[in-house]
Amino acid sequence: MTLRQPLSHETLDRAADSLRAGRLVAFATETVYGLGGDAANPLAVARIFETKGRPRFNPLIAHFADATAAFAVVQPDQRAHALAKAFWPGPLTLVLPRRPDCPIDPLASAGLATQAVRVPRVSPEFRALLAGFKAGIVAPSANPSGRLSPTSAEHVEAGFLSQREHAPEHLALILDDGPCPAGLESTVVDLSEAGQSRLLRHGAIVQTDIEAVLGQALTPDTDPAVKTAPGQMTRHYAPGAPLILNAETATPDQAALVFSNPTGFEAASALEVLSPNGSTTEAAAALFAALHRLDALGPAAIAVGPVPMTGLGEAINDRLRRAAAGSAPD
Ligand code: AMP
Ligand code: MG
Repeated sequence: MTLRQPLSHETLDRAADSLRAGRLVAFATETVYGLGGDAANPLAVARIFETKGRPRFNPLIAHFADATAAFAVVQPDQRAHALAKAFWPGPLTLVLPRRPDCPIDPLASAGLATQAVRVPRVSPEFRALLAGFKAGIVAPSANPSGRLSPTSAEHVEAGFLSQREHAPEHLALILDDGPCPAGLESTVVDLSEAGQSRLLRHGAIVQTDIEAVLGQALTPDTDPAVKTAPGQMTRHYAPGAPLILNAETATPDQAALVFSNPTGFEAASALEVLSPNGSTTEAAAALFAALHRLDALGPAAIAVGPVPMTGLGEAINDRLRRAAAGSAPD
């Protein structure tokens, strides 16, 4: 059976089963094809990064059947309701504060307190599938990292197959629903700060249409005033406790985070092992939840053992370096 299949009741059932099992499904939206995974499943989220070969964990957009479902996981304000009413379903992504009980895995928002949500314009059949996933389906564009975004199912297939001999292990299905009408990515607007609406990415909905609904100008993301504004660092997750990278031991006032082998860290006040099997994908899936748990204990520091650079190890190390830099005293 080839990976690419026309959208039908049978293939949609298979897609839903695959997503429930933590596997990935590529699907059409009005913008580009997305590489989707169950937002509630940490391993599925890690597999998205693995499959794309992304060297970094950038936060992902969660896709929902309707605004009610989207706003059940984040905290909308009046601006969000107005934009949703005007543009959903459609190519507009809103970044909003996560609800305290947000069911989306922290890796999907790269450990941030915000989550990007969108209601895409999809076929009624795929919308019904989306409605079955309360945490939504997280999906970046369905292309290997650094390649062009795919606007057809053929692009998705060619993109992933050209990289290697076999289809990526966790990609179960490419649901072929024809070419994407917009062919441009969604416009991303950050509403997470009251009083400031920020344009994070230009896309298929033009800035002036959004400003007309808001009755307010969007702040460009490149505005130098924004770059130096407080809160800028919040776009990279940083724990409260300082991180000590590539540690080999830990003292009793420190918590420890190790990749797979806890030897040397016995003295730590608390220990998290990311992957006892030594899998970087499993470690990525566990990373943010483990950091949040250790940080909540209020240790003097978090000693982090070395993480190999294979597979998702590069992205894990990148994220740890940023977290360490973010928590350094100024
Ligand atoms: P892609 O996954 O390629 O569609 O890109 C998603 C876009 O949304 C990127 O530009 C991300 O930086 C942005 N994004 C997603 N979630 C967030 C978030 N929580 N905060 C800021 N930007 C986000
Ligand atoms: Mg992309």
